[in-house]
Amino acid sequence: CQGSACYGRTFVLGGILALLSAAWTAGALIRRRSLTTRSNPSTVADVIRTCLGPRSMLKMLLDPMGGILLTNDGNAILREIEVAHPAAKSMVELSRTQDEEVGDGTTSVIILAGEMLAQALPHVQRNVHPIVIISAFKKALEDAIQVIDDISVPVDINNQEEMLQLVKSSLGTKFVSRWSDLMCNLALDAVRCVAQEDPSTGMREVDIKRYARVEKIPGGEIEESKVLDGLILNKDVTHPKMRRRIENPRVVLLDCPLEYKKGESQTNIEITKEADWNRILEIEEEQVKAMCDKIIELKPDLVFTEKGVSDLAQHYFVKANITAIRRVRKTDNNRIARATGATIVNRVDDLRESDIGTQCGLFHIEKIGDEYFTFLTKCKEPKACSIVLRGPSKDIINEVERNLQDAMCVARNVFFNPRLSPGGGATEMAVSVKLAEKAKLVQGIEQWPYRSVSDAMEVIPRTLIQNCGGNAIKVLTQLRAKHANGEHSFGIDGHEGKVVDMKEYGVWEPNAVKVQTVKTAIESACMLLRVDDIVSGVSKRG
Ligand code: ADP
Repeated sequence: CQGSACYGRTFVLGGILALLSAAWTAGALIRRRSLTTRSNPSTVADVIRTCLGPRSMLKMLLDPMGGILLTNDGNAILREIEVAHPAAKSMVELSRTQDEEVGDGTTSVIILAGEMLAQALPHVQRNVHPIVIISAFKKALEDAIQVIDDISVPVDINNQEEMLQLVKSSLGTKFVSRWSDLMCNLALDAVRCVAQEDPSTGMREVDIKRYARVEKIPGGEIEESKVLDGLILNKDVTHPKMRRRIENPRVVLLDCPLEYKKGESQTNIEITKEADWNRILEIEEEQVKAMCDKIIELKPDLVFTEKGVSDLAQHYFVKANITAIRRVRKTDNNRIARATGATIVNRVDDLRESDIGTQCGLFHIEKIGDEYFTFLTKCKEPKACSIVLRGPSKDIINEVERNLQDAMCVARNVFFNPRLSPGGGATEMAVSVKLAEKAKLVQGIEQWPYRSVSDAMEVIPRTLIQNCGGNAIKVLTQLRAKHANGEHSFGIDGHEGKVVDMKEYGVWEPNAVKVQTVKTAIESACMLLRVDDIVSGVSKRG
């Protein structure tokens, strides 16, 4: 690293470290703003450091329209911030990636990545070539993953108690902790509902985004929130005379309109006789009747379509005692198909008995507040579900939803990879102690950056202690001593700031989240270390 390149790298790193921090010193009240300052070198971690752990603080985010958002979710906070520095933008991306990959650990990953960069800075300043630092970081990453795997324990996903405890510990730090039992049960029920195993490959599929939909209905108590054994849609029947309650309905799902089919593109018809005009109208009616007859033949009770239902079609359906619901969203139609066992058909002519869904136990429409909702419940083995969230205000329901999503992600991660790592900084401390031991065996100059990873890992337990007002130096030393004796399940009690055994304290996290957090943090630090200059891509005006 020489001359301007070294300066560039130091500038990039120092820039990132500096950029994000200044805006936060204003305290918990944060305005959406561009973070362009280059002074006040500190770390990215400062941004959301106070948001880690069970004693975390909330941030109040103000948007330019005057709206507010109260949250302690790292990803949600960083999403709201406008950052100007390109490297800082990549840091913000980190927490989004983490959220998409495993849905949890978004605060931890930023704190850890920030600390990695802070630890790398002195090496860059001492003219250690970034490639050497990167190589040491990569080596440390491999060893760290090995340690995390070694100290993790298997979990029985069929054991409700154990699973509940696990999801609860991930929710313990969130705003909903008062309702954590309810939220954990909701998350577990929803994930169990949508989890499917492919018998041929043995692969598990848990697509919560697609098949477990949260329906937020302001009003009522949070305790009234529940996972339905079926679905809810914000829809009403198309005609007031249609039935609003049907037991064991036969369900038809369509994605075609039940209307007269117009020409594909613009059509002009010239008519000279009145009789021809009447004939055209008759043809339109016949076409709609033919479609309805085809459906009525199969004697369904309920027809859902993604498109429109004409007045005439409604008339035939009312006569045949069929309830129709129109303009259902594609995603909702897919979920109804999973819950009721019906197949979505896109031409009425193709409709067969086997396409009819019969697994729903009860269809009914209910008015909640000012709106009508369609319920399809008591489904036998539904493979899709709705989670109804109630609460006193929209802001509260939104925050509850974010936390519920986190809990569902935890449950999903464990369903995929049923291994747990001790929480409360125990895993990070175990990694730190092991890496410090191994650093002695690393040859050459790489030893120092390798040891820096060990130091950086301590940031999680240290922050947990600091956030609950504990004595960081004293408690951290006690914790280090425990781990040096091979007692890897010891971590921090995030409420009291004391050293406790996680086996008794009961804070566990999915192995997948821990591995992903460390991987993302170290790899992103390596990526930023490779940057030696920032070049603007603005083209010259000619
Ligand atoms: P993230 O967005 O990274 O999940 P959280 O604020 O949820 O951030 O904090 C998670 C960290 O807090 C994890 O390291 C977890 O082990 C730890 N933690 C959670 N509950 C406790 C607790 N009661 N005591 C100590 N640490 C805890």
